[in-house]
Amino acid sequence: MKQSMTLIPTLREVPADADVKSHQLLLRAGFIRQNASGIYSFLPLGKIVLQKVEEIIREEMMNAGAVELLMPALQQAELWKESGRWNTYGPELMRLKDRHEREFALGATHEEVITSLVRDEIKSYKKLPLALYQIQTKYRDEKRPRFGLLRGREFIMKDAYSFHSSFESLDEQYEKMFTAYSNIFKRCGLNFRAVIADSGAMGGKDTHEFMVLSDVGEDTIAYSDTSQYAANIEMAPVITEYVQSTENQQELEKVSTPGQKSIDDVSRFLQVNPDNCVKTKLFKADDEYVIILSRGDHEINDIKVKNLLEADLVELASAEETKNVFQCSVGSLGPIGISNVRIIADNAVKSMKDFVCGANEEGYHYINTNLERDFQVAEFADLRFIQEGDPSPDGKGIIKFAKGIEVGHVFKLGTRYSEAMNGTFLDENGRAKEMIMGCYGIGVSRTLAAVAEQYNDENGLLWPSVLTPYDLHLIPINLKDEAQSSLAFELYGLLRENRFDVLMDDRMERPGVKFADSDLIGLPIRITVGKKAAEGIVEVKVRKTGEMHEVKKEDLMEKLQ
Ligand code: ATP
Ligand code: MG
Ligand code: MG
Ligand code: MG
Repeated sequence: MKQSMTLIPTLREVPADADVKSHQLLLRAGFIRQNASGIYSFLPLGKIVLQKVEEIIREEMMNAGAVELLMPALQQAELWKESGRWNTYGPELMRLKDRHEREFALGATHEEVITSLVRDEIKSYKKLPLALYQIQTKYRDEKRPRFGLLRGREFIMKDAYSFHSSFESLDEQYEKMFTAYSNIFKRCGLNFRAVIADSGAMGGKDTHEFMVLSDVGEDTIAYSDTSQYAANIEMAPVITEYVQSTENQQELEKVSTPGQKSIDDVSRFLQVNPDNCVKTKLFKADDEYVIILSRGDHEINDIKVKNLLEADLVELASAEETKNVFQCSVGSLGPIGISNVRIIADNAVKSMKDFVCGANEEGYHYINTNLERDFQVAEFADLRFIQEGDPSPDGKGIIKFAKGIEVGHVFKLGTRYSEAMNGTFLDENGRAKEMIMGCYGIGVSRTLAAVAEQYNDENGLLWPSVLTPYDLHLIPINLKDEAQSSLAFELYGLLRENRFDVLMDDRMERPGVKFADSDLIGLPIRITVGKKAAEGIVEVKVRKTGEMHEVKKEDLMEKLQ
C-alpha cells in the first residue's frame, strides 16, 4: 500500500480528552477517529488490525466447534419482554420506535434473538448440541464511555451461544470455549488471566472473565502466581473469621413453619437476605468449612437458588456430611463437630450491615429453628478485604492484586432464557425439555485497544507481528533522488512478491516527519532507502529494539526471514 493512497491522519499532539495510552496512540497514529462520545470510525489501519483479531477469533471458534452466523442489530422489544429484560436491563439498552410506534432495541447482546431463532428451528435432541457465533456491532448506552475503544457505546463483539440437551454437554462446550479464549488472547500476545467472575444480570452459574493485566483496567483481580486461583474481587473475597459466641445471644423470632433446613436457613442464620446471596456456596477444604457469600442478582428466584444448592452439595466431601450441614443451621455446626468455619464474602458486602439487612423484616425470619437448641448467634470479627499477601483461598499461593481489562467472558446460562422464552426440545423419550445454554463474549474492539495498551513505547505503537496492519514500513527519504526512488519502487515490488505486506511512505514529506509517523504507527520493521541507495544498500530497523543494520538489497529477503 502506498501511503499517498490511503488515509493515515497522524497527530503530533496528544488529544486533550484521551487519558490512556491506547486511546492516545490509536488516535495519534491514525487508526481511529471519534464520531461522538463512545462512537468511533475505524480508519484503514484500524480496520486491518480489527480484521486480524477477527480472523484469530474465527479460527479458534472453528476449533471450538462453533459456526458463524449474523443476527440483526435491530431487535424487537417483544423478545426482550419475553425474557423479562426489557424492564431489568436499564438505560444501557438503546431503545427506539419505528414509524408505526413499535418498540425496538439496538442489540446490546443477543440471548433473546438467538433463543427465539433456535427454539423455532430446533425441535429434537438429535440436533443438539449446537454452537453459533457472530461478530457484530453492539450498542450499549454506557454511563461513562471512556478510554476510547475500551469502553464504547458502539463496539464490536464476538458473541457465541450454545444449546444443549444436558449439563454434561454444556460443560464440555464450556471447556472448549475456555480453551479457545485462552488461545485467542495468547495469540494476540496479551498478558491475561482467566478469573472467576460474578454472573451479574445475565443469570447463570459458572462464569469466567478473561482479564488483560493493565493499570488502566476498571476491574481488580486477586490472583496468585503459584496457584490456579484467580478471581474478580467482585466475586472474591472479603475475609472474616466466624466466631461462635454464647454471651451475645439475641432474641430471635421463631417461626414454626416446618420444612427442611437448607442453604436459605444458613443464609438466614447469617442474617443475610437470601435474595442477596444467591451465590452462597458451602464447601469443604481439608478440615475447614468455607461459606462463600455473594450479593447477587435479585431476579434469580428460589428455584434457581435450589438448583445452585444441589450442584454445590456435590462439592462436599460426603453425602452424610452434606446432610448434617444442611439439616442444621450454621450455628449448630459446632455441636455436630464442625467448628472451623470461614466466611468469605464478596466485595459488594462492605460491612456486616449488608448482611443484617433483612433480618427483622417480614420473610427473613429464621424458619423452624430453635435458638437454644439449634444455634448460637454468630459474631464476626471485623470484615477485612482480602489483601495482597493473604494466602489464596486454595492455600496454594499468596494473593496479588492487579487491574484488569475484561476482554472476554464465558457463562453457563443454564435454562435462564429457554425457560422464560419457551425454548424447548423433545428428548429421547419424546418429552419436552428446556434447552440448556451457554454464552461466550469477546470485546473485539476492546481487545484491539488492550493490545495497543500493552504494546507501545514513548514513540508510539509496537504491533506484535500477528496483528500488525502491515509487516514492513518502506521509507524512501527523498523520492526526487533518482537512485532512491528507483530502489524504493523496486523493493516495493520485490517485497510484495515475497508475500510481505508493505506500507510505503511515498509522500513528499521531510524525513523527520516520515520517521516520527513511522514510529507512531509501529510496524515491526522499517526499511529506509537513503543516501546509499546508489550502492544498493538500505537500512533495516527493528521498531521494538531499535536495532539497525545496513543491508544489501540482494541479502534483504534472507535478512527478513
Ligand atoms: P464491562 O464489565 O466492561 O462493562 P460487561 O461485563 O458488561 O463489560 P459482557 O456483557 O460480558 O460485558 O460482554 C462481553 C464482552 O464485550 C466483554 O467481556 C467486553 O470485552 C466487551 N464489552 C462490553 N462492554 C463493552 C464496551 N462498552 N465497549 C467495548 N467492549 C465492551
Ligand atoms: Mg458492562
Ligand atoms: Mg463485566
Ligand atoms: Mg462481562
